[in-house]
Amino acid sequence: MNHPVSNFIVSYFYWVFLAILVLNLLQRKYRQKAQRKRGATLYVAIFVFVFYIYAYGIIQLGLSEWFLLVYLAVVGLLVGFYPQTFLPFRLRCASCSKTLSFDRFFYSDDNLCEQCARAASETESTAEADESDDREHPEDPER
Ligand SMILES: [Zn+2]
Repeated sequence: MNHPVSNFIVSYFYWVFLAILVLNLLQRKYRQKAQRKRGATLYVAIFVFVFYIYAYGIIQLGLSEWFLLVYLAVVGLLVGFYPQTFLPFRLRCASCSKTLSFDRFFYSDDNLCEQCARAASETESTAEADESDDREHPEDPER
């Protein structure tokens, strides 16, 4: 039996898997900011690797290539049910819909553009300052 698609997958998907792992390592630099996206690239790498093994198995067992669709259907269902886990990437800012730069797209879990992220961190830090102010008041002898 001919396996054109499976042969293609076996020839190239191992390298795709390695390439995604390299991207995953790049995300390490931004550990805190990109935790969710780093998890997602790892899951995608695993999907690709298992697809590679699966295609290899289909060739070895002489099965029909239609079985590839079974795998894709399972992955499709998983991604459909857990989009935040497997595909948290957005091309546009979650707040103002501006197209995100690659850095924000790939390294930042909040999916905000530079401007919105700066605005968000400013309100966050003023909120923190207010909080610590409140905590200091009772111990302040001047008041
Ligand atoms: Zn924005």
